[in-house]
Amino acid sequence: MLSGWLRACALVMVGLVSASALAVDKPHTAIVVGGGLAGLTAAYELQSKGWQVTLLEAKPAVGGRSGLAGSEWIGNAKAQPVLNQYLDRFKIKPVPAPEFVRTPGYLIDGEYFSAADLATKQPATAEAIKRYEAALDDMARSITDPENPAANSTLFALDQINVANWLDRLSLPATARQLINQQIRTRYDEPSRLSLLYFAQQSRVNRNVDDRDRRAARLPGGSAVLAEEFVKQLKVIKTNSPVSAINQDKDGVTVKVGSVGYEAEYVVLAVPLRALSKIQLTPALDAQHQGAIKSTNYGWHDQIMLKFKNPVWDSKARMSGEIYSNTGLGMLWIEPALKGGANAVINLSGDNARIMQAFGDKQLVDQVLIRLHAFYPQARGAFTGYEIRRSSVDPSTGGAYLAFGPGQISKYWRLWEKPLQRVAFAGEHTDSLYPGTLEGALRTGQRAAGQVQDLAAGKSFEPVKVAPPKAPEAAPKESGGIGGFFSNMFGGSKPEPKPAEKAPEPAPAPAPSPAPAPVVAPPAPAVEPAKPAVEPAKKAATKKEPAKKEPAKKAPAKPAATHKAPAKTDAAKKAPAKATTPAAPATDSKN
Ligand SMILES: Cc1cc2nc3c(=O)[nH]c(=O)nc-3n(C[C@H](O)[C@H](O)[C@H](O)COP(=O)(O)OP(=O)(O)OC[C@H]3O[C@@H](n4cnc5c(N)ncnc54)[C@H](O)[C@@H]3O)c2cc1C
Repeated sequence: MLSGWLRACALVMVGLVSASALAVDKPHTAIVVGGGLAGLTAAYELQSKGWQVTLLEAKPAVGGRSGLAGSEWIGNAKAQPVLNQYLDRFKIKPVPAPEFVRTPGYLIDGEYFSAADLATKQPATAEAIKRYEAALDDMARSITDPENPAANSTLFALDQINVANWLDRLSLPATARQLINQQIRTRYDEPSRLSLLYFAQQSRVNRNVDDRDRRAARLPGGSAVLAEEFVKQLKVIKTNSPVSAINQDKDGVTVKVGSVGYEAEYVVLAVPLRALSKIQLTPALDAQHQGAIKSTNYGWHDQIMLKFKNPVWDSKARMSGEIYSNTGLGMLWIEPALKGGANAVINLSGDNARIMQAFGDKQLVDQVLIRLHAFYPQARGAFTGYEIRRSSVDPSTGGAYLAFGPGQISKYWRLWEKPLQRVAFAGEHTDSLYPGTLEGALRTGQRAAGQVQDLAAGKSFEPVKVAPPKAPEAAPKESGGIGGFFSNMFGGSKPEPKPAEKAPEPAPAPAPSPAPAPVVAPPAPAVEPAKPAVEPAKKAATKKEPAKKEPAKKAPAKPAATHKAPAKTDAAKKAPAKATTPAAPATDSKN
């Protein structure tokens, strides 16, 4: 009798232990939406903590936005610490950049100048650029905490002003102003569309980072090689899976791809803001988030790689690195032999890209070639073809990457950093320090992965509150005094500007508008007239000259030849078209 009772107790105990062991072993689940570097990082970090992760990517391949460069310039660990950590972890070896490309160069009316040349041959321009840099540094130093740039009402006022207004105050000579405009629009967006506070904050973040640190190495294969490493690690990736809706309730989330539903405990939403506007969220986002989706400014950048049989530029110029042109060529650099030829990559940015938006790819290339040919008469004869990537006409991004416009820091600062119930946000646009960069994308993937783990551990996140600005404080000693900077800027001795004196710019609309000061001249009469309609969004296209048809029309879904991340099994297509299917098991994912 006693032994029977003991046996029964033992069986109950065994049952309890194995039930609790099962409960402990059951992994947490998450769905990551978007297979850019932010989403890939979030998925990788969660999976490495034992989570069961499904990554859903709309396009046929992961990797998302990234430059056209097949051998991308990257910063060292000082400039891009997280990027360099992942390169080390995956044993990806960047190639150190030669010294002459580590500082910017200039192309003035077709003549190449290194920074050193400029000082001796164009001293007035060099001097004006120095004056601008000193004024910018002065402004950057006035920001004590780049995570909280609008810390006082004086700094808050800078958010109402655009960068072009500030540059006007510096009264720079024409060539210097053109080169400076070119640098700003290449890195961010058109100066007239940028919040001065954002520009100052970014300068503060990079204040102790030398140009030499920013262009310290080349990454052979471009940022696609990093995406490929993440892909190798991840167990479940479903490409061709555009997410259309996300429903959350107290028990979990259901993510819809067409009629298929994926279920998990949490979601990391790692898509750009315009793409987010096409995903139906239940419960819906509040007015502030919806306003941010609609109006947050994205910088416009088109990249064109012109291919030549041989270098058509002066071989002594050693043109490479970042070269800012004072004419319509934008910023350009020369791709080394890694791409197998003499290739010039041209970045058309800001309003230079906006005014070209109605042009077809070939027309756009023609315009750029005409300008290059004016300086290098062999250009047309040696031209063999091009590749192009036009983020300015991609409706899923509405531009290339985040560049806050006037008034937008005041409204949307760090808005996307906080999860909403079971959804955490990632993507370059959600980073406060390095938006618009690979570094920012990677950082936000890590942050979002940490946040969903915190949520699973029972932590709750307060909704974002925009703190009201305080009255200006005494400036930190190292800033040299806030009064000095503002006196210089506003031409008076008062430490605080009167915002009313400066006509605040309205927040720039996402749709393009006529360029205030185009550097690219209007289309030359020799080429076809611009098409009246905006071309549909295209992925990068490769084209041989002479081109008869638009290349992207022939191959709309192919990623840039230089950015191949391996496509994964298109498991979403195989999934039964039930209203709800469980998050995919690991077996239907990787090939
Ligand atoms: C022209 C250009 C030049 C650049 N140059 C540099 C540089 O020199 N240095 C640097 O550090 N950074 C540079 N960047 C920025 C850098 O490339 C980006 O910051 C980074 O790639 C963004 O990664 P992400 O993951 O945030 O977004 P993305 O790469 O855009 O990833 C988002 C992904 O979500 C997918 N998606 C969208 N909607 C859905 C949906 N409904 N369902 C599923 N998936 C969806 C998209 O297809 C995409 O793959 C450049 C960017 C551009 C455009």
